Amino acid sequence: MNLANGRPYLAIPGPSVMPDRVLAAMHRAAPNIYAGALPDMVQTLWPDLRALAGTAGHVALYIANGHGAWEAANANLFSRGDRALVLATGRFGHGWKESALAMGVRAECLDFGKSAPVDLAQLEAALRADPGHELKAVLVTHVDTASSVKNDIAAIRAVLDVVGHPALLAVDCIASMGCDPFEMDAWGVDVAVAASQKGLMVPPGLGILWFSDQALARSRSADLRTPYWDWTPRATATEFWQHWAGTAPTHHLFGLRESLNMIAEEGRAVVWARHAALARTVWAAFEAWGVGNPDIALNVADPAHRGHAVTAARLGAPHATRLRIWLEQKAGVTLGIGLGMALPSEPAYDGFLRVAHMGHVNAHMTLGVLAAMQAGMVALDIPHGPGALDAAARVVAGAAGA
Ligand SMILES: *Cc1c(COP(=O)(O)O)cnc(C)c1O
Repeated sequence: MNLANGRPYLAIPGPSVMPDRVLAAMHRAAPNIYAGALPDMVQTLWPDLRALAGTAGHVALYIANGHGAWEAANANLFSRGDRALVLATGRFGHGWKESALAMGVRAECLDFGKSAPVDLAQLEAALRADPGHELKAVLVTHVDTASSVKNDIAAIRAVLDVVGHPALLAVDCIASMGCDPFEMDAWGVDVAVAASQKGLMVPPGLGILWFSDQALARSRSADLRTPYWDWTPRATATEFWQHWAGTAPTHHLFGLRESLNMIAEEGRAVVWARHAALARTVWAAFEAWGVGNPDIALNVADPAHRGHAVTAARLGAPHATRLRIWLEQKAGVTLGIGLGMALPSEPAYDGFLRVAHMGHVNAHMTLGVLAAMQAGMVALDIPHGPGALDAAARVVAGAAGA
């Protein structure tokens, strides 16, 4: 029997669940792009985007997904042949490196594997091995959506400072923005990159870059800049079209306005706390399922190194794939595939999955996913330890209080 009919829940790490308020804000006739409601409204976005990232710096919006936002950062940071250091803690770190390489940047990679954060001693050694300061920037993923590893960005900045290395620090916050605490200025970040379809709860289509005065100064000599990707007119436009190098992404902007309203109403710190509580709920369930079943485990052992937007886990092949298919077909919930843990052609691939808990997600949604997962494990005879739903409920009860 199929119990999937009802509202479907896409619990993959992006695109995330879109609030009805965001969808309703987008549901309107095409606005005038020269004057009136749209340009007036967009002026209100800039301070709210700065507040979200914790910066007094510059903001540029692009019609782009996360891959486009990476290229925007590369285009403004580098000239052909420049050296860059990429700190990879999962598939997305490698993705940014590959985009930089393809653009002619000599991107070198420190690879910390698929389950561990950046090793600060290795970073320090790599920076000390560059006394001529040829490395122009360090690129790092805050929360890698493939591994769910979270990096300590302030600690990475501290290493740059201790070594006295002038490389700019650029951070991929595509998964983490609006989910995990992020303080661009306090942490000494020069460039932060995000996209609309994760913690910001807007459909895919907007890339967001925040950048410091130092990064702006660097971009003036970056020969990878082209008119479309140049962030300067986007951030300092005197005419509305210059923000977009052409036609504005009209409806996405109304959606973004509404999502920023929702984040402001809840409060940024409360949004972060909600994500932390829901992440701990998911972790508690996996820990219980894994008792006596070493095949079931979270990908990241230390909770301090886990992101709050998504949880990567293994279930033993082929159980993760079986469970994902069952959940979509029988229960109306779609989990994320394991990304970058094994090739799709390898049998091990079917042992990994990811549960997203980013954006417009609350306790009953996360508890519902976990209960549906347990139902699927029962239906499919996947061995699992007892008490996962009780453990998850206890985390929610403890976080929500009386
Ligand atoms: C989703 C994601 C990307 C890629 O974004 P796309 O919109 O799919 O291009 C890059 N980095 C991180 C950390 C992400 O979560």
